[in-house]
Amino acid sequence: MRPLDLTEKDPSKKVTIYFEGKPYEAYEGEKIPVALLANGIYWLTTSLQGRKRGAFTFGPLPIVLNGMKNVDGRKAKVRDGIRIERQNYGEFQEAVEIDGTKEPLRVVVDVAVIGGGIAGIGAALEMQEHLTVALIEEKGWLGGLMFLESVPQGGFDEEPRKVVKGLTSKFNENLRVFTQTVALGVFDEGEYFLVPAAKGDQLVEIMAKRVVLATGAVENILLFENNEFPGVFRLDFALEVINKWGVAPGRKVAVVGRRPERIIPELEKWGIEYVVVPNPKRVEGEEKVERLIDTNGNVYEVDAVIVSDYRIPDINPITQAGGKLRFKRGHYLPVLDSKNRIREGIYVAGSAAGIKPHRANYIEGRLVGAHILREFGYEASPAVYREQLEEYEVEGMPLPVIDFSMNLEDVQICGCDVNFKKVDDVVKSGIKDLQIIKRLTHLAMGFCQGRFCLYNGALLVSQRTETPMGELDIPVARPPLKNVKMKVVARGE
Ligand code: ATP
Repeated sequence: MRPLDLTEKDPSKKVTIYFEGKPYEAYEGEKIPVALLANGIYWLTTSLQGRKRGAFTFGPLPIVLNGMKNVDGRKAKVRDGIRIERQNYGEFQEAVEIDGTKEPLRVVVDVAVIGGGIAGIGAALEMQEHLTVALIEEKGWLGGLMFLESVPQGGFDEEPRKVVKGLTSKFNENLRVFTQTVALGVFDEGEYFLVPAAKGDQLVEIMAKRVVLATGAVENILLFENNEFPGVFRLDFALEVINKWGVAPGRKVAVVGRRPERIIPELEKWGIEYVVVPNPKRVEGEEKVERLIDTNGNVYEVDAVIVSDYRIPDINPITQAGGKLRFKRGHYLPVLDSKNRIREGIYVAGSAAGIKPHRANYIEGRLVGAHILREFGYEASPAVYREQLEEYEVEGMPLPVIDFSMNLEDVQICGCDVNFKKVDDVVKSGIKDLQIIKRLTHLAMGFCQGRFCLYNGALLVSQRTETPMGELDIPVARPPLKNVKMKVVARGE
């Protein structure tokens, strides 16, 4: 087994790959950064400011693959004999490249459900008997965060992955599932909504009479020095490498953030040694994490850091589709009517509507499904789901307090090379309009379109200018929801 393998891999898939000219053991079909991690390699790219970065925090991951530059390293898979080299950020932009010469795939359904997590699955299951449904999921799997967890939690008795398998095995022929497909926005088209989506280079145009936004939540990015150094793991990436790929993030791991209980059972299950450090200040090392220093000056010799904090609802799909926001108990949340709609025809379910246990998100998916069934004239009982849902509380998040005494140049607020100091300098110059801050600093303008970084931008403005979070003007997300490049080739006609 490779140094960080947790499980035996299929020997028939064993191949050799080359990184920076050296051979390494890998397995056909593995994600390239995972194969390299299993061999103890963390540093895969360098930012414009010369900062070393890995694959599992944030920011784009350009690599050179078989001599070809600008390959998105997070999506590339292992094949025998491939040669990989590091590439700096340079001109790289993470982009879905739609081939404009290909005919778009046109799909007409009653309902488009964006997001195939447990909420989207619940909504689809509720409606599939009577309505045609397109379920659109960006990742290569259904179940969202639940698919990545192996320890029972969140109100289901079984192992999360088994729950997902059990539910998706009930899908019928009215349901069309699009995985590895990114929905780019929601647009009004007469009586329909148009949801353009990209599956690889194929444009998919989904026309639907109703839309469910089940787009979930993202991990809160914790602010400490060198918070994007190779070996720092966002929680969802840590879960993915452990439970999907059977690889450990490191031999000795520091867990930082305010919700260590989200990762500890997984580490214990796999026997990964860990230490909980509630007050991280700085990560240090040559090419990867070697030590973590806390605010009291304690030094922890570790080879990886997992950030296990709160999740924040992804507000981009909400504002892009015309929804309004309110700020409540630490989160920006969509303003919903009694049927969970941001406006006529567009529903929200799951973590996107507020952070709560998986079970509650599943019920909320069923709830919006039941409302939609009724609108189409079918019998359904949303009130029953509403009652069940009331047993669960929507989680709040204590506002993180920013430590302005940190070396702010070493704190990354946004994966796209925007350090905290850059944004702070603009705020200190008297600008507190996030729209202008975006323009001046590039915060929330890059590959994540602000999903991860806008919250911390708002927090910074709020705490520097003593303005309550709820009084800040949060910029509306512009389509496309994810960076997309259209490849248009002259047809010569
Ligand atoms: P829970 O929060 O309990 O896990 P959930 O279903 O509310 O349940 P997630 O598990 O985060 O939330 O699932 C949301 C899913 O939506 C993710 O799998 C994510 O990849 C997907 N998603 C988010 N935005 C898009 C998009 N624009 N296009 C396609 N899929 C998306």
